[in-house]
Amino acid sequence: MKKFEGKLFVFSAPSGSGKTTIVRHLLAQEKLNLAFSVSATSRKKRGEEIDQEDYYFISLETFKAHIKSDDFLEWEEVYRDNFYGTLKSEIERIWALKKHVIFDIDVVGGLRIKKKYPNKTLAVFVKPPSVDELKIRLKKRKTESDEKISMRIAKASIELATAPQFDVIIKNYELPVALKEAEELVIDFLELDKNSDQ
Ligand code: 5GP
Repeated sequence: MKKFEGKLFVFSAPSGSGKTTIVRHLLAQEKLNLAFSVSATSRKKRGEEIDQEDYYFISLETFKAHIKSDDFLEWEEVYRDNFYGTLKSEIERIWALKKHVIFDIDVVGGLRIKKKYPNKTLAVFVKPPSVDELKIRLKKRKTESDEKISMRIAKASIELATAPQFDVIIKNYELPVALKEAEELVIDFLELDKNSDQ
């Protein structure tokens, strides 16, 4: 039997680009054998989010203690006082389950992971149709204040400029097309047989 070799799939994009929908779709495909990398964050839980499923929700203090102990593969202050990071233990946990890791992570973190594991990682940038469309999607989500939305939009323009540094860019203009494309990219990177349902 072939030895298990854990791979990493990074999906990065500006907030509201639809990357979470794409990541969820991929996780639902059993044959891809993926598990979600649960990030740690110091931000407050919102809406229906579940601790240890969506994020490890921890205090700012605990987050800083992990930084000091070098527990993170990467971390970042994505928004002011809102820290996000990938714990090294999370990757080990998933690989121990003999699954590949999929990340829903911001562009800087995504590129850091690619740099740390250049051969094991497929870094995908999910491109929204336009910044205006992003604004509409974030407003529809109704989970954040106008101020928070403006903060995310300002960041989006900077993030869009990093797209060429990724291995692949998926244009999320029509969701079904983007989902199919994402699936094929993962299949190719894992060198799975496209016609097999295994
Ligand atoms: P949200 O607050 O909308 O859940 O996430 C805000 C941003 O932080 C998103 O772009 C999300 O992808 C990013 N993010 C989530 N987890 C991590 C992580 O572990 N590291 C980094 N660098 N960014 C993350």
